[in-house]
Amino acid sequence: MSLDSSFTGQCYLCCKNYSKNGILRHLKACQKKSKKDFSDGFDHTFHLIIEGVYIPAYWLHLKAREDMLLQELDELLRATWMECCGHMSVFKIKGDVFLSEKMLEEMEGLGMDIELGDILKPGLEFTYVYDLGNPTDLFVRVVEETTENFPESFQVLARNNPPDISCDYCGDVAALICSECTGSLGCWFCQDCIDEHDCGNDRFLQVKNSPRIGICQYGQV
Ligand SMILES: [Zn+2]
Ligand SMILES: [Zn+2]
Ligand SMILES: [Zn+2]
Ligand SMILES: [Zn+2]
Repeated sequence: MSLDSSFTGQCYLCCKNYSKNGILRHLKACQKKSKKDFSDGFDHTFHLIIEGVYIPAYWLHLKAREDMLLQELDELLRATWMECCGHMSVFKIKGDVFLSEKMLEEMEGLGMDIELGDILKPGLEFTYVYDLGNPTDLFVRVVEETTENFPESFQVLARNNPPDISCDYCGDVAALICSECTGSLGCWFCQDCIDEHDCGNDRFLQVKNSPRIGICQYGQV
């Protein structure tokens, strides 16, 4: 896997591309420009940066209103990046553990039926894990809290562009990954080179723009 080192992504407000390092500054300016009434209103919002712990090429910038539930954040992460077969998930925030519903039946911890405003504050960092068997770990940073007019519960402000991953056999863009041998040479391939890899088609997963790429049934063909 050869990840594009520039880690570029798209601002969803103006649809332009920026580097991972430059996009926060851009978003601050772009939000002011795109929202005439940005400074009006009384909604408290958090700006969150979420990224893969082990593959930081996958990242999201999210604006969330303080009454968004942790459970809704879990749903958003599942829909955007995680969901393969309804595994359990957990947020670890300042020594507290917040568990998804199924997990609550099996473990001691708090539920996710809690508002972000009750637990988050600027500067706070925490983690999220989806699937404890074959985990995908995310790192979340609360960049700032703002008071503004914000009618939605949340808004995705920016997201990484799919990293360049090339076929290990011919160098073209990879479309598939073999979940049997993830991480080893030959695990990435394009449709044309599918016969070069003989682990069996049922092990092949689609290349998707997610830190869960190649894990469990994520992107099952
Ligand atoms: Zn923009
Ligand atoms: Zn799964
Ligand atoms: Zn190929
Ligand atoms: Zn394989």
